[in-house]
Amino acid sequence: MAKAKRKSKTPARGKAKAKKPAKVKARAKRAPRRVKKARPVKKAPRAARKAGPVSPLREISAKKIADVVARLSMEANYDLEHDVLEALERGLGAEISPVGKEIFNQLLENAAIARNERMPICQDTGLAVIFVDLGQDAHVTGGLLDEAINEGVRRGYTEGYLRKSVLGDPLRRVNTKDNTPAVIHTRIVPGDRLRLWVVPKGGGSENMSKIAMLKPADGIEGVKKFVAESVRIASANPCPPIVVGVGIGGSFEQCAENAKRALLRTIGSAHPDAFYADLEGELLRIINDLGVGPMGLGGRITALAVHIEAAPCHIASLPVAVNINCHAARHKTAVL
Ligand code: SF4
Repeated sequence: MAKAKRKSKTPARGKAKAKKPAKVKARAKRAPRRVKKARPVKKAPRAARKAGPVSPLREISAKKIADVVARLSMEANYDLEHDVLEALERGLGAEISPVGKEIFNQLLENAAIARNERMPICQDTGLAVIFVDLGQDAHVTGGLLDEAINEGVRRGYTEGYLRKSVLGDPLRRVNTKDNTPAVIHTRIVPGDRLRLWVVPKGGGSENMSKIAMLKPADGIEGVKKFVAESVRIASANPCPPIVVGVGIGGSFEQCAENAKRALLRTIGSAHPDAFYADLEGELLRIINDLGVGPMGLGGRITALAVHIEAAPCHIASLPVAVNINCHAARHKTAVL
């Protein structure tokens, strides 16, 4: 049987290619499309052209941060903030013990000498604790944030003749001789600014800090008892009149940090939550009823304020932390 002839896909050599369909030819004959004229590119304003390409992040130089930290380290140790001075004045008015009144007068005089003579308020110029709120649309240029802060502390404590109180290791105990490293707490917050708080913290008051992991059943009464007992045990050691920072809730470490963060609040300002504002007032009354008094010599005013910082916590936990600031409640802030 003869094989059926297979159709070849390729045209036979020498044969002309199949003609293009008529449709294509017709398209070629159509009138050419109108080409849109390109719009002229708008020029950026002259100032913007000069500044170069726009960055989505606001730049803050590491040098500027170091300069500000150096300045605030000195100012914090020379100038008590207005809120602290006003609280001392109010304490003087409210104190009933003559010895206590005399101590308040001496503390105010001491603060004035420090401010006028540019001398530290106390010989213990503290561990440099720095709180940072860094806007997520800000970018630190020309160095690392922590290094810039430490450079500022180094310069501030050296140029300001402030005591160097930091050991490089807790057990081998060799002084770093420039008060670094600082303790730095950084939060990322909305915006493009950087806010700093410089809080020199003396050893006498810091050593009186306490933390407890209470049982939830201990409740609010357990919190009051723990705070009052912490202040009673501290007695004269943190150089009263004191400011009491209380952290409630959170995890173990968050609670301790919040107790210190609470000390940043302006003395005399009300807690934004009425429930905690009432608790602060009640704790202040309980503490002042202890009768420790200025410098622990007895009297009506042991504390100038109680500040609470609360945070959500685990259903099985009720952490409470107390961090005390002495009468030299040093804190300075700046926004870059
Ligand atoms: S507790 Fe305060 S006032 Fe007392 S020695 Fe320390 S830094 Fe100075």
